[in-house]
Amino acid sequence: TDTRTTAAHGGAIGLHGIKKWFGTFQAVDDVTLDIRPNEFFTLLGPSGCGKTTLLRMIAGFELPTEGQILLDGADISSLLPNQRPVNTVFQNYALFPHLSVAENIAFGLKMLGRPKAEIGTVVNDMLRLVHLEGRGDNPVTQLSGGQQQRVALARALAPRPKVLLLDEPLSALDLKLRKSMQMELKRLQLETGITFVFVTHDQEEALTMSDRIAVMSAGTVRQVGSPWDIYDRPAERFVADFIGETNFLEADVVSVSGSAARVRLSSGAEISASFPADAVPTGSVTIVVRPEHARAGAPTGMSVLRGAVHDIVYLGTDTHLHMHLDDGTTFTVRQQNARSGHCGFSKGDTVGIDFSDGVAQILRD
Ligand code: ATP
Repeated sequence: TDTRTTAAHGGAIGLHGIKKWFGTFQAVDDVTLDIRPNEFFTLLGPSGCGKTTLLRMIAGFELPTEGQILLDGADISSLLPNQRPVNTVFQNYALFPHLSVAENIAFGLKMLGRPKAEIGTVVNDMLRLVHLEGRGDNPVTQLSGGQQQRVALARALAPRPKVLLLDEPLSALDLKLRKSMQMELKRLQLETGITFVFVTHDQEEALTMSDRIAVMSAGTVRQVGSPWDIYDRPAERFVADFIGETNFLEADVVSVSGSAARVRLSSGAEISASFPADAVPTGSVTIVVRPEHARAGAPTGMSVLRGAVHDIVYLGTDTHLHMHLDDGTTFTVRQQNARSGHCGFSKGDTVGIDFSDGVAQILRD
């Protein structure tokens, strides 16, 4: 492999007590985060939660009202954008339409005054990296949307930043292209070793690509973790609700031992559930169970829950069974369709619902 494109130095970013006010509106409220070197890190949250503002502060386009931004331990809070070893790729990739592919990629290097020979070598490396060999002389306007986005990535990667910031870079692409660019971005991050900080409101995109995710809401970080932490162990209602489909159940804590609790459901059944390490549960709690972690079948005395089927949605690979539990709560079970045919349930059927010990998670109050 070519050491010039694989020479890895991803930067570590420390955000310490970051607050940002626009006039009287607080867009970012006391965010502290450590992004590790070489990590694919995603800021995920609904529109308006402050993720772009946070990214723009790392880039230097906005200054924090309070707090420090560190890169590899050094305070970069007061540096101008072009003084930071950080580059940004935007959604509307903003290529120069009158320049060729190679000239677009070379642009940042020219601005930095790099020698011509070096620029030529780096541009060729970058063309190879983004699979556009032989296309250097093409006008960028002759490329497809996906190819243009790859040129924008090559242009941003060419000066070897320690950190690449990506602000919803795939949202202008159609679904199929977006899926293939997700794999491409992941590959580019692994091959270059550059720390990627990716902004999206698309939870599936975040789960697919990230080493770790910070879920944001209203200017604050609600939870940081690997995709499976965030999905299987949501710490609070907002996170559980924002990521995937979820069933919420009310329960009472019976006992706690180590990292597991026994809880009693309204059906009277007792199950074991895990909980966030910093929030030992007591009294009444809310628990979550993902639809695919539950099973529906004929009701027995051992069933954890009982309910009546109120809707059946066939989705090709899966069937969603929407139930009304005896206490009036709604509950969804997602079953894989192992073989062709009907799922075996009809509207109005009374069913038993079961799930294995350990799949339920108690939420923080
Ligand atoms: P989106 O995905 O819609 O871009 P976001 O999570 O990235 O959402 P931000 O763009 O960071 O959100 O904006 C956070 C809040 O700050 C929003 O309510 C926005 O209107 C406000 N905001 C952002 N920039 C400014 C500005 N320059 N002046 C005033 N308010 C701003």
